[in-house]
Amino acid sequence: MIKYHPEQSQLTQFVQGNISPAEALIVSAHCDLCHRCRQFVQHKTQLIAAEVFDTPQPKDSLENYGAMLAAITQLPASETAPAAPDNKLNLSTPEPIATFTLVKTLELDGHQFTLPPTLQRIAAKTGNWSGLVGRLWQAPVELNYPGVANFIYMGRGGSVPEHTHRGVEYTLVLDGEFNDGINNYRTGDFVVMTDDNTHAPHSEHREGCLVFTLLDEPLHFTSGIARLLNPFSHLFFR
Ligand SMILES: [Zn+2]
Repeated sequence: MIKYHPEQSQLTQFVQGNISPAEALIVSAHCDLCHRCRQFVQHKTQLIAAEVFDTPQPKDSLENYGAMLAAITQLPASETAPAAPDNKLNLSTPEPIATFTLVKTLELDGHQFTLPPTLQRIAAKTGNWSGLVGRLWQAPVELNYPGVANFIYMGRGGSVPEHTHRGVEYTLVLDGEFNDGINNYRTGDFVVMTDDNTHAPHSEHREGCLVFTLLDEPLHFTSGIARLLNPFSHLFFR
């Protein structure tokens, strides 16, 4: 059972389109796994849609809209959006995310993991897996957005040295389970860490733990020998 969810305010901003594309991605992936948040998002979407469509549009704004459309259609051809290339994968939407090939599963350390639909679209943008210390592997995801995104796999007995954060770290558990000395997190849990939090994730789960993370700044290692890693922390989770 999922214990950790995005705040309702974040889900509302997600529906309104008021969060960054990277944040929207991880919130959407959580909703793929979480019935409760999916229902909240559906309900909010209906409420907001009803508000928008029940509100009569002022005549002025309709006229302005007409003028804007006219201005756009009169632009010289070179200033209009380029035509989509003849590519079957290109779904002709402006979102580059729609051109990614679907990858439904990841195989790691002999274990097969199914990705939530939202992340299936970005898996093809995933770089090579590289082994870090302590039975830990990461694969960066190229999102073209500020911040960094990674799939991280902790094998059984794997751990990340104790660290704090300079910005916000979002972690979505995709499969398996990990503990960070504060709480235990299972599939679907949405974990938010800020510079107030210090933690040391490790996994003792039979299948280890696969997570998707977003970070806006490199980690800062806080304990023991791991502090020696700080000059290189940009190599972790980037
Ligand atoms: Zn939820």
